[in-house]
Amino acid sequence: MINTPFYYYDLNLLDKTLQSIDTNIKGNPFKVHYALKANAEEKILKIISDHGFGADCVSGNEINKALECGFNHNEVVLAGVGKSDNEIRTAIDNNIHSINCESIEEIRVIAEIAQKEVNIALRINPNINANTHPSITTGTSKDKFGIPTQNLWEAIEEIKKYPNLNFIGLHFHLGSQITDMLPFKKLSDEVNSIQSYLISKEIKLPHLNMGGGIGIDYNSPKDNPIPNFEDYFNVFKTHLNVLENQTVHFELGRSIIGQSGSLISKVLYVKNGANIKFAIIDAGMTDLIRPALYNSFHAIENISSDRGNETYQVVGPICESTDTFGNALLTDTNRGDYLKIFSAGAYGQVLSSNYNLRDSPKSIYSDQYQLDEILLEQNERKSKNKHM
Ligand SMILES: *Cc1c(COP(=O)(O)O)cnc(C)c1O
Repeated sequence: MINTPFYYYDLNLLDKTLQSIDTNIKGNPFKVHYALKANAEEKILKIISDHGFGADCVSGNEINKALECGFNHNEVVLAGVGKSDNEIRTAIDNNIHSINCESIEEIRVIAEIAQKEVNIALRINPNINANTHPSITTGTSKDKFGIPTQNLWEAIEEIKKYPNLNFIGLHFHLGSQITDMLPFKKLSDEVNSIQSYLISKEIKLPHLNMGGGIGIDYNSPKDNPIPNFEDYFNVFKTHLNVLENQTVHFELGRSIIGQSGSLISKVLYVKNGANIKFAIIDAGMTDLIRPALYNSFHAIENISSDRGNETYQVVGPICESTDTFGNALLTDTNRGDYLKIFSAGAYGQVLSSNYNLRDSPKSIYSDQYQLDEILLEQNERKSKNKHM
């Protein structure tokens, strides 16, 4: 008997998603790193490291986790606007591929801490608006991330002062859930112009890191389970001037794991409000905070019933008015039914909390249980026993 709520991961879809990336980068000097912050479940990390991707980390603990789960130290990168001294030490001690520096001050701190040679890249803020949700926009001059392009030369001069720092590349990251390809084209143009400038100064870097951010289709997850990697990588194949012996890195999080995970929850009560019919479920904002945090939409289906349809507001049990998953057109919904909340694989389980001392949602994988088996088990229990 599996307790709800739980995250359910479709490993078959994850595999197809990884293969689609392979198909679209084949023959190009491209390297994909998985952004651990989207989902750091061990089983998922092991699958992705086995697949041969690198790791994009934003904390010291993520570096340690990546290494534990099989990622090669030489394929781990660290970004973050406020790296602590301990996190910098973790990166240096483990000889990771590069520390992506976000300020001139940070260059000095790394040089001071490092007792050996360290590879660093500069994260440049290209001032490009990614036309996504303001809370997940990172590449405009109003955002705290990266070094402004106009300070690039100053940063390079700073690096030159320290013989233990190897300047190996440039890093960019525009934001997340970007579905329009134009910002990525603008980024390529901007990187081309920065590269021409560096070449005029006789600097040729071995690495360019274009960050992550390609979005997923939250509205139609069943029609578009795999993101359009073809259009995404084509932008860079077409517009980015890649130098000889240069590697282009990508840091994909949401697009790798987003559609492979869903949150499965049970209906506790169906309640008639004054004007609204509420489906009160046993998952809340402590399990999946995106709707409360960003007002984001997740498709929802009642997977226990296939008759009728009606609009319900699907809400969690927590004493916060933002603890709602929004309105959903569902089949007839009753106490004990299972709801599937789609597209919850990224920034779902990792952002769960124990507020109200609630349990952390567990993970169930498609190679352990098929969703219909779980449903069947539940239906048998329901017919024998009224309590759930
Ligand atoms: C969050 C983040 C990513 C991953 O973003 P996705 O939208 O999940 O692809 C990549 N790089 C950096 C530096 C990040 O902070």
